[in-house]
Amino acid sequence: QERRSLVSSLIEDVPDFPKPGVMFKDITPLLASARGFQAAVTELVTTAPRHVDVVVGMEARGFIFAAPVALALGAGFVPVRKPGKLPGDTISHSFELEYGHETLTMHRDAIRPGARVMVIDDVLATGGTIGATAELIRELGAELAQVSVVMELAFLDGRARLAERGIDNCTALV
Ligand code: 5GP
Repeated sequence: QERRSLVSSLIEDVPDFPKPGVMFKDITPLLASARGFQAAVTELVTTAPRHVDVVVGMEARGFIFAAPVALALGAGFVPVRKPGKLPGDTISHSFELEYGHETLTMHRDAIRPGARVMVIDDVLATGGTIGATAELIRELGAELAQVSVVMELAFLDGRARLAERGIDNCTALV
C-alpha cells in the first residue's frame, strides 16, 4: 500500500531516547510532511467502522491524529489526559509502567452511554495506554468500536495485552 509505505518511511528511529537502550519512534518527520500527514490521516479514516459518534485521542501525540480523523468522520473529539488537566468532573484509571505507574483521566460527561467510540493514538507499545483508555470508555457505558494506531511496536506484545482485556479490534497502519 503506497500511503502506508510513505507513512512508514517518515517515522524515524531515535536510539537511546528518552533513556539509554530505548529505540524511540519519532513521528515528527511524518507530521512535518504535508503528504505524509495527510496519508496517515486518510489511512486512519479508512480503518473507521461504519458509525462513530466520538473519536478519543490520548495526550499528547494521540490528539494530533485523533482530531483530524474526528473532523473527517463528522464525529466529536474527546481528550484523554494526564491528571490535573481537565477542569470538570473526571473519571480516572491507573496502570503499571516499567517503573511506577501512570494515570489517565477523562471528563465523566464526555461520552454518553451506548455511544460508539473510536480510539486513536500514535504508537501502540505495551498496550497500557490503550488498555486504560478502554477502561475509561467502558466505565462510561460506551462501546469501543475500533482502536487504530499509526504504528505498532510488535515486539512489545501490546496486542496480546489488549486481547487479554477483550480488545481485539485494533488496527495499526504500520
Ligand atoms: P504503551 O502504553 O502502549 O506502552 O505506550 C504507548 C504510549 O506511549 C503512546 O501514547 C505513545 O505516544 C507513547 N510511546 C511509547 N513508545 C513510543 C515511541 O517509540 N514513539 C512514540 N512516538 N510514542 C511512544
